Order: sequence, then structure tokens, then C-alpha cells
Amino acid sequence: MLDLDRVNAYLSRVEESETNTFPPVSGKLKVGVDLGTAYIVLVVLDEENNPVACEKRASGVLRDGVVVDYTGALRIVRELKEKLEARLGAELVNCAIAMPAGTESSARTHQYVAEGAGLEVTAVLDEPSAANAVYEIEDGVVVDIGGGTTGLAVLKGGRVVQTEDEPTGGTHLSLVLAGNYHIPVEEAEAIKQDYARHREILPVVRPVVEKMAAIVRRCVDKAGTDAIYLCGGTCCLTGIEGVFEKETGIRTFKPANPFLVTPTGIAMNC
Ligand code: ATP
Repeated sequence: MLDLDRVNAYLSRVEESETNTFPPVSGKLKVGVDLGTAYIVLVVLDEENNPVACEKRASGVLRDGVVVDYTGALRIVRELKEKLEARLGAELVNCAIAMPAGTESSARTHQYVAEGAGLEVTAVLDEPSAANAVYEIEDGVVVDIGGGTTGLAVLKGGRVVQTEDEPTGGTHLSLVLAGNYHIPVEEAEAIKQDYARHREILPVVRPVVEKMAAIVRRCVDKAGTDAIYLCGGTCCLTGIEGVFEKETGIRTFKPANPFLVTPTGIAMNC
């Protein structure tokens, strides 16, 4: 079972490390580089996985989890790394990276971006499996809904037995909102991220969320899983867990801040 109190307390410390730099308890620094469709996030942990520092930047250099602007991605990762190094007064050497399940063929590009920014890649993961380093689920399905993709990892007895990914994510919710309200996508994006508007927008984006849940149900039917654990920025949407429960008939859990789960889990694997 997911220990939500532990996960929430831990993630709020990671969130705090965006603005506060915490002194590392041990010397070696672990870095997670999350190259996302919507955001590029770098999380720094110490050797015992205590949060140290974190930086993020809106991305626009990937599509559906795949790098489409290599130079742009390289520039952002380099700048975030330099910012973190200035905050820490230390050089960052190693990192782990992750990509949506099923896009492992693009692992090389992700790796070149990290290496081009001066980091040695020590581990390459799929996103939902990386997220489970934070959740520590033995049995169930971890679902990571980002900007461009919905990925999942089915766990049995602590082992990942299946991974899937489909190119449906938060960007599609923004497109639906933009169409519905006849507004530019940027404005729709801002409305979507405003917690005060979530009650109003959930019925509008519900069909897309149902599609995401259907992706999970298809895999879960086969795997016979009885719990869903959500993460990824799109799961910040208030009420998304209820739609998943209704569509799949499976208990669904999410932490208070699902956004930083995957980048933190990536860092844990460094
Ligand atoms: P991918 O893994 O698909 O390549 P990513 O890693 O960039 O994408 P995340 O950073 O996990 O994805 O999530 C980004 C998505 O989360 C964006 O679509 C963004 O609009 C959405 N998001 C962020 N904050 C909120 C919020 N408060 N409410 C709803 N959606 C949010």
C-alpha cells in the first residue's frame, strides 16, 4: 500500500527545494533529469535521497516525450544545471534520465542532451518505473500523466511486469479547453493550472480524462491489478482520481503534489 503521509511529506520537501537549498547530509549528489513535453525538471538529492535543490523550466522542445529541438533542450538543461551548481557551490557530475515507456529508441537523444550539458548518465529508466522509486509500490499500477503522454508500469511482487505509453496528456486537455472556450491555447493552459477553476473545467475535459483511464483499464484488465497510483503534472487536476475510479472500478490514489514524483524518482536511481 502507498504510504501517502510519507510520500506527501517527502514531496513537499522536494517542492521546497525549488526555492530553498538544503545542505546535503552526505557528499555524493544524485541528479534526475526529466526531459518532458511540458517541463524540463532537474532534481538534486543527496546520497540518502534527501532533497537538496530543484529547478524547472517550461519546455516546448519535446513532442509526445520525444526531443524535437535538440539544441533547445541542450540549452535548457545546461542552464538549469548551471543554476543548480551556483546554488550549491558544487559541480554536478552524474545523472539518471527517463523517457516515456515505449520510446526507449529515443533514449540516445535524451542521453546526448544530458551529456552535452556535462552530465554523465548512470541510469536510463522508463518514467512510471522511475516514479515508483518514490511510491515503493509492490503491487498495483503506477500511472504517469505528463504533458504529452500517459505512461504506466504494472507492478507485481515489487517487479515491473508491464509498461505502456500512449501519446495523450495534459496538452490535449488544454486543446479541448481552448476549443470549448474559444480562447488561445496559452490562455487555456493558464486556466487549467488554476486550482480555483478545476471544478468548472473538469466536466469539459472529462472525455479526455476518460480516454486516459480507458488506456489504463485496457492494461489492467489483462494484469488483474487492484490499485492505481497517479503521478505527473496532469494529475494535479482536482477530481481526476474520481474519474479514474469510475471508469476503471479500481481504487485510485494520488499525492498532494503529483508533479515532482517522476523527476524525484529519476534522481533516486542515479
Ligand atoms: P511528458 O512526460 O508527457 O513528456 P512532462 O514530463 O513535461 O511531459 P509533467 O511535467 O509531469 O509532464 O506535467 C506537465 C503537465 O501538467 C502539463 O500539461 C501541465 O499543463 C500540467 N499541469 C501542471 N500543473 C497543473 C495543474 N495545477 N493543474 C492541471 N494540470 C497541471
